[in-house]
Amino acid sequence: MEVYLSIVIFIFGILFGSFFNVVGYRLPKGLSLIHPGSFCPKCNHKLKWYELIPIFSFLIQRGKCRKCKCQISFFYPCIELLTGILFVISYFLFNITPEFFIAVLVSSFFVIVIVSDVNYLIIPDETTFFFSFSIIILKFFLFDYNIGIYSILNGMFLFAIMFLIMLLGNKIFNKESLGGGDIKLMFFVGTVLSLSNGLFAIFLASFLALPMSIYVYVFKKNRVIPFGPFILLATIIIFFTQIDFLDLLTNITS
Ligand SMILES: [Zn+2]
Repeated sequence: MEVYLSIVIFIFGILFGSFFNVVGYRLPKGLSLIHPGSFCPKCNHKLKWYELIPIFSFLIQRGKCRKCKCQISFFYPCIELLTGILFVISYFLFNITPEFFIAVLVSSFFVIVIVSDVNYLIIPDETTFFFSFSIIILKFFLFDYNIGIYSILNGMFLFAIMFLIMLLGNKIFNKESLGGGDIKLMFFVGTVLSLSNGLFAIFLASFLALPMSIYVYVFKKNRVIPFGPFILLATIIIFFTQIDFLDLLTNITS
């Protein structure tokens, strides 16, 4: 582990994080990711390169647009920082190995889903497809053929399981319980985790989402919560800690 490389990875992380903000905000609205460049949502002032430096521009301008002085959301630099931190943790845990690249892909998708799901309650299909496909390709080339095939089968199986959970939920609550985006997201989770860990991820995600679900249920009647970020947070926790749920179960029961 090298300090120099950690810093480089962190800088890459915040730069990617800045791009993931754009992806998460624009893709759900069907806007181009490249054109036009970033601008102030209030006064349409086009941002210059020195206003686009992740985190630093925000700090130097004290969170305000240089032209109209309107407040810029604290959400943007937080997303950039989060991406940087997750990339560095991935490096600390896995060094430069195939697992590192998987960790970086899962972290990236997590950050994009936070932006899009929190703001629009949408997980863009393009991103789910892109990241699932990338993981499958990685597993075929950096691991082996069998692991590649398994990742596809796991994905299909977890997708089916989540679909059944949705049907059950709709029956019980008599309303839409899970979004289509969450079900497709399980395909991605299946490409990353083993089958048992994938199932564990659903439980862990429900557990992590519980406080927010209760809050929303009590204070904001009839509002749905973005479940996608919780599914990916659970996936990250399981992948980063390399827990094996089956081992865990046998340890508890024996
Ligand atoms: Zn402005």
